[in-house]
Amino acid sequence: MPDCIFCKIAGREINAKFVYETDELAAFQDLNPQAPTHILIITKKHITRLSDCSQEDAPLLGKIQYAAKEIADKAGIAEGFRLVTNNGRKAGQSVDHLHYHLLGGRKMNWPPG
Ligand code: 5GP
Ligand code: ZN
Repeated sequence: MPDCIFCKIAGREINAKFVYETDELAAFQDLNPQAPTHILIITKKHITRLSDCSQEDAPLLGKIQYAAKEIADKAGIAEGFRLVTNNGRKAGQSVDHLHYHLLGGRKMNWPPG
């Protein structure tokens, strides 16, 4: 998708600090971290948001969860982390390319804001 910042990161047109990559997924450090560990996990395929995925994307969505587990293990936050996607402007989504925030390294509050 032209002009999509996360497509450009996935295509290595824009720099990011990658921590994980497969042929379908990429994960890199958030530019504006909200916790000591704040990693974004994205699909390389452009999906605007979770609401826009299709049934055929279900295995890919599952792989995101497993990637999060592996990245959390490697980052040393397996004992406490949060995996969240903001779906739509009302939920705080600012980049229109499906991504999951993996946050850890501090106490997480509930309910979220
Ligand atoms: P959202 O608000 O859409 O849920 O999350 C977007 C996230 O992307 C934010 O946490 C923001 O800091 C991060 N972000 C926006 N632009 C860039 C960028 O160019 N590089 C990186 N690494 N993160 C970005
Ligand atoms: Zn994109």
